Amino acid sequence: MGLITQGMPHAVIEKLLILQDRDTRRINLEKQLAAVPLEIVAVESAIAAEKAAIEAARGELQGLESNRKVLETEIGSAEDKLAKYRTQQSQVKKNDEYQALGHEIETMETAIGTLEEKEIELLYRIDEARKRFSAAEAAHKSSIDGHQARIATLRERSANLTAELAEANAALATARVPVPEPALRVYDRVAVRQQPVVVAMRGGKCSGCHLKVSSEVESDSRSRDETKLAICDQCGRVVYWDA
Ligand SMILES: [Zn+2]
Repeated sequence: MGLITQGMPHAVIEKLLILQDRDTRRINLEKQLAAVPLEIVAVESAIAAEKAAIEAARGELQGLESNRKVLETEIGSAEDKLAKYRTQQSQVKKNDEYQALGHEIETMETAIGTLEEKEIELLYRIDEARKRFSAAEAAHKSSIDGHQARIATLRERSANLTAELAEANAALATARVPVPEPALRVYDRVAVRQQPVVVAMRGGKCSGCHLKVSSEVESDSRSRDETKLAICDQCGRVVYWDA
C-alpha cells in the first residue's frame, strides 16, 4: 500500500506550499502597510476635531463679548438720555411739563434696569463660554503630545513594514525559482482570485471550499507523479492528499 509515502505531498506540492507561505507573508505585510495611512488620518482628524472645538469655543466667546459691547453702548446712551431728562426736569416751570419729564425718566430707568439685567445674564454666559474655551484648549494641549507620538510610531512602523515587505518579496521570488512552470501558472491563476491556493484534502473534501471532490480528483491527489496536480473541481484550488 505504501501508506507512509502516500501521506506526504509530493515535491512540487511541497515547493508550492513554501511559495504559498511566502506569498501569505507578503499579503499580510501589504495589508498592514496599507492600514498605516488610514491610522495616521484617524489621528490627524482627532487633532483637527480638537482644534475645531477650540475655534468654535473661541467664536462663541467673541460673539458674546461683542454682544456685551453693544449692550454697554445702549446702556451708556440710555444713561445720557436719563441725565438729560433730569437736567430738563430741574429747569421746567410748568407742572404738566415736569410730570411729562417725570414719566420719561421713569420709562428710561425701567429700560436701563432691563438692559442691566441682560448684561448680567450675558456676563454669566461669557464666563461659561470662557470656561469651555479653556477646557477645549487644555484638552488639546494634554493630548497633542500623545497624538504626535502616535503619528511618529505609525511612520516608523510604515518604514519597518516597507523594509520587511522588500525582504518578503525577495523570499517569494526565491521560492518561485524551483517550482516548475506549469505549476506556477496554475498557482498564479488561482492566486489572483483566492487564497490559499494549495490546500489539503481531507475525507474526500477540499479544505478550501469544504466541498466533496470527484473521485478522479481524489485519485489525482494521491498520485506521486510530480507532473500531476489535483485541482478541486468545485473551486479550482490545488488539493493534495493529507491522510
Ligand atoms: Zn475546493
